[in-house]
Amino acid sequence: MKILVLNCGSSSLKYQLIDMSNEEVLCIGLVERIGIDGSILKQEKDGVEGKLVVEQPMKNHEDAIKLVLEGVKDSVYGGVKEMSEIDAVGHRVVHGGEKFAGSVIITDEVEAALRECIELAPLHNPANIMGIDACKAILPGVPMVGVFDTAFHQTMPASSYLYGLPHELYTKYGVRRYGFHGTSHYYVSQRAAAMLGKNIEDVKIITCHLGNGASIAAVDGGKCVDTSMGFTPLEGLIMGTRCGDIDAAILPFLMEKEGLDAKGLSDLMNKQSGVYGMTGISSDFRDIEGAAAKGDEKAQIALDAYAKKVKKYIGSYAAEMNGVDAVVFTAGVGENGIDMRAQIASNMEFLGMKLDAEANKVRGKERVISTEDSKVKILLIPTNEELVIARDTLKLVQK
Ligand code: ADP
Repeated sequence: MKILVLNCGSSSLKYQLIDMSNEEVLCIGLVERIGIDGSILKQEKDGVEGKLVVEQPMKNHEDAIKLVLEGVKDSVYGGVKEMSEIDAVGHRVVHGGEKFAGSVIITDEVEAALRECIELAPLHNPANIMGIDACKAILPGVPMVGVFDTAFHQTMPASSYLYGLPHELYTKYGVRRYGFHGTSHYYVSQRAAAMLGKNIEDVKIITCHLGNGASIAAVDGGKCVDTSMGFTPLEGLIMGTRCGDIDAAILPFLMEKEGLDAKGLSDLMNKQSGVYGMTGISSDFRDIEGAAAKGDEKAQIALDAYAKKVKKYIGSYAAEMNGVDAVVFTAGVGENGIDMRAQIASNMEFLGMKLDAEANKVRGKERVISTEDSKVKILLIPTNEELVIARDTLKLVQK
């Protein structure tokens, strides 16, 4: 069975075609600038040099997906001869609210429920729904599955997901912690148990997904019990351009001082903050590390603040779970940021975490990076959200 995995953003679309008989990725691509000038599709195939590049106007997601379906049929960079070889489509969906605690076959009812979640994720869900609608139009009859970023976190107890706010705000508007990156936290926690040679039911794991967006989860016995992102993907860690946890009273203060409205505030916190806002340099950790190495004080403070925040979450989740067996690093910074991992894991011996400096000198490979005698194992595990989406899609379609 061949499954197309789609991850639709507002102006971009990532895709992979996966052969589920051996989980081989047949081709992988990215469409950017959908609906704006300069639309472009780039696709690669493992073992084949170069890439397929298609530059032509794409006014919406339907145009983009039509080109994706041409791309996956490409005789050099593609993975199928005919569109009919695509047996199912798995969609990443950012917000499933409280309705979806697992992946589902997309039906009209499910789509209606997704539309109800738009209010909770106005930046993400509309694009996901556009992708679903476009596939429905172009691939009629091909089963589709929705895999939610929020689903893995639905096991959190109310004491983790309720805020210190009037209870009716939860019942009236659904104001609560939902958590995101669930597919990634799920995947790396499962892999971590396998690397430890233990049953997932028997281990306590803290998973650090440190990408452009970043979140941490406490996974006890395979179930998420707490996570750092909240009602939206803004809460928690300091990120590339997002501020993470701040004193909420700063918001009315800034509204008055800077004359900001709700959208202005949201832009400030989501797009102008994080390490980018703190340094004025970049949201990319490579740039910040480069600047810090040249003596830029703000860059050094941003790195220190970032690492400290991750440490605080690791400490608090270890306390919450009454211990931890493994701490996992994943996503862009987690997989590649050798210095950042070292900074986060330094001075954590009190918790039983001892990094092996030599083993840590690695990027993007599954590896134990703690010392032999480290009570808590530190693991580097590249995430693979697409594979989880494809596996869930296969499971549901075969039912
Ligand atoms: P996204 O949330 O967009 O999926 P990724 O998980 O791909 O993000 O992470 C992207 C981030 O990873 C970049 O912004 C960059 O800060 C970081 N990164 C990538 N390579 C390195 C590296 N070699 N060293 C440090 N950070 C890196």
